[in-house]
Amino acid sequence: MEGVISTSQIKDITRLERTGAHSHIKGLGLDDKLQITPGSGGMVGQVKARKAAGVILKMIKQGKIAGRAILMAGAPGTGKTAIAMALAQELGNDVPFTTISASEVYSLEISKTEVLTQAFRRSIGIRIKEETELIEGEVVEVQIDRNVTGIGPKVGKLTLKTTDMETIYDLGTKMIDGLNKEKVIAGDVIQIDKATGRITKLGRSFSRARDFDATGSEVKFVSCPEGELQVRKEIVHTVSLHEIDVINSRQQGFLALFSGDTGEIKPEVRDQINMKVAEWREEGKATIVPGVLFIDEIHMLDMECYSFLNRALESNLAPVVIMASNRGLSNIRGTNYKSPHGMPIDLLDRLSIISTMSYSQDEIEQILKIRAIEEEVDLSADACMILTKVAMETSLRYAINLISTGYLVAQKRKSNVVSVEDIKRVYSLFLDEKRSVQYLQEYQAEFMF
Ligand code: ATP
Repeated sequence: MEGVISTSQIKDITRLERTGAHSHIKGLGLDDKLQITPGSGGMVGQVKARKAAGVILKMIKQGKIAGRAILMAGAPGTGKTAIAMALAQELGNDVPFTTISASEVYSLEISKTEVLTQAFRRSIGIRIKEETELIEGEVVEVQIDRNVTGIGPKVGKLTLKTTDMETIYDLGTKMIDGLNKEKVIAGDVIQIDKATGRITKLGRSFSRARDFDATGSEVKFVSCPEGELQVRKEIVHTVSLHEIDVINSRQQGFLALFSGDTGEIKPEVRDQINMKVAEWREEGKATIVPGVLFIDEIHMLDMECYSFLNRALESNLAPVVIMASNRGLSNIRGTNYKSPHGMPIDLLDRLSIISTMSYSQDEIEQILKIRAIEEEVDLSADACMILTKVAMETSLRYAINLISTGYLVAQKRKSNVVSVEDIKRVYSLFLDEKRSVQYLQEYQAEFMF
């Protein structure tokens, strides 16, 4: 699979495109006990919803939930997407996180269910292990991390570990001086003085490697009775099921991953891949990493899609699906049935619902301040107050948009600080939704129909 773009790379690209609206969000801002941490990961308020997301995060990390579906329900601008993004940040790069807007399922090229299937399979990671002997001369940099397993982080994708947990703990605290940032070369035999924790490289003999074991994380140390260690390497790639599908289904192979033109993938191909993955899993070569699929504007789906979702969630290869809706009681797309969030009751019934609440004036002010810092804009105290008022009367998103436009106006008058006047100016230049509707009503005769 070398050369194949990895899930984490794909996620990075998506993230890059999505900087902007949520770039100030760094995480859920919760500690292990789900208490709010200082700084809050860039998040303000919405504590209940964040804690609920924190519980989901724990379950995902433990790999306990697959095929669960969560609905984030709340008025526009109450942070549904922000919380989902925070969750993605917390998951780390190895866990796939895919976001789509429900309207993306309507394509002329491929069927709705194919789009959804691809989104599902993009959100399932397969962590594939490959054991290799280190090549002679290959250099592995070793660093100690007390938090992880004693001997830890790595350069690139290499981790160093021992299998004996007690040793790990002892070494973790003792080895720091000896091995930190030490270069270890393939074939090196390392001796640990258990009393002092000092590490010495003994040489390049494999003959004493009786107790060595090359399983586990990418590179492993296993202690010998004499306290000697040897280095082996195990490479771990994480690819998504969708990437495996694409590579196996088309002549152009992985290039289709870049063009995005994957077309419909035959069910037989997917069946075979599922079987292969199950085989790898049994042989201990692969583990499944259930990720997260975020579907925004869920009410844009129709009955066919909902029925697909109902079934797809049953599969043991399903990710955690988080849906977002800002609709109340509304028609299910394409029907005259009214239902909460425009979703069928049987699907709603299987969801865990997290609701987001409207913000207080204080919270809005804090969010605006965080945004101003993120956009590197200096807002005067008065301007921030006015902007908060604007947000209360129009919407948070509209007010956030006025920060950068206000800054441009301030710069025009050669100031680096956005003042009340600048906000007033942009407020009159750019209409919010309410004023825009009002304008349309007043002047509708002049518009084309
Ligand atoms: P919609 O229903 O319209 O899609 P939403 O509930 O998904 O809205 P967001 O897009 O998450 O709303 O929020 C609007 C803006 O406010 C975003 O820039 C978001 O990052 C920011 N924001 C919302 N809630 C918070 C929060 N609690 N802390 C920090 N920033 C927030």
